[in-house]
Amino acid sequence: MRAALLNEYHRPLELIEKPEPEPVAPRDVVVKVGGAGVCATDLHAQEGLMEPAGLKPPVVLGHENAGWVHAIGSDVTTAKPGDAVLIYPAYSCGLCVNCRRALDMHCERHQFFGLTRDGGFADYVLVDERSLIPLPDGVEPAAVAPHSDAGITAYHAVKRLLPRLSPGTTSAVIGVGGVGHIALQLLKVLGGGSVLRPGVYWFPFSLTSTWSMDRPGRNGMSRYAPLKEPLKSNVIDS
Ligand SMILES: [Zn+2]
Ligand SMILES: [Zn+2]
Repeated sequence: MRAALLNEYHRPLELIEKPEPEPVAPRDVVVKVGGAGVCATDLHAQEGLMEPAGLKPPVVLGHENAGWVHAIGSDVTTAKPGDAVLIYPAYSCGLCVNCRRALDMHCERHQFFGLTRDGGFADYVLVDERSLIPLPDGVEPAAVAPHSDAGITAYHAVKRLLPRLSPGTTSAVIGVGGVGHIALQLLKVLGGGSVLRPGVYWFPFSLTSTWSMDRPGRNGMSRYAPLKEPLKSNVIDS
């Protein structure tokens, strides 16, 4: 299969051929990659900044992955070949105290696909059954692959804010980029107040202009108002 390998720091990734992975452990799953997001973390990895997180080249990068289950280990019960899945990028054992407290990022056996283990910049990636998130029918893996990192990062932040977002409140997303534009959408869907988007005016408006306008209604609840023209101001609402 093809894979984009980080072989040396400060060098472009190398497109190589390597054997397709196969399930080895009973809960292993091989996923045919349908989409793999490029994250700023990948750039940091190339710059040699991810060693504290456990990265040691050579490694196939790519931690924002989605695709279709291709092959499963003998004990896999929650996925079958052909299933469309998003891949949670952290490997966690499910057995240690932190995993049992739902603090998977602090798992004693923590790994991270695309940093400490080969990731999704390849035709196939080997993951654990525990990392699979089934996708609903009709959702193309390539359309949602970045949600496996950028999406859950934004969701984590917004979820912590939700108890404060009662009707009449206003929240601001500063920096509407790869993570922020998801936070903006989550705030609109989950929050009870209105949303501001102050900040730098660089993100493609084709992505933000159709849904980022938010005007509080009479009862203070968020109301969606699509834009007819690209915004001239860098403040969406007030
Ligand atoms: Zn990422
Ligand atoms: Zn664990």
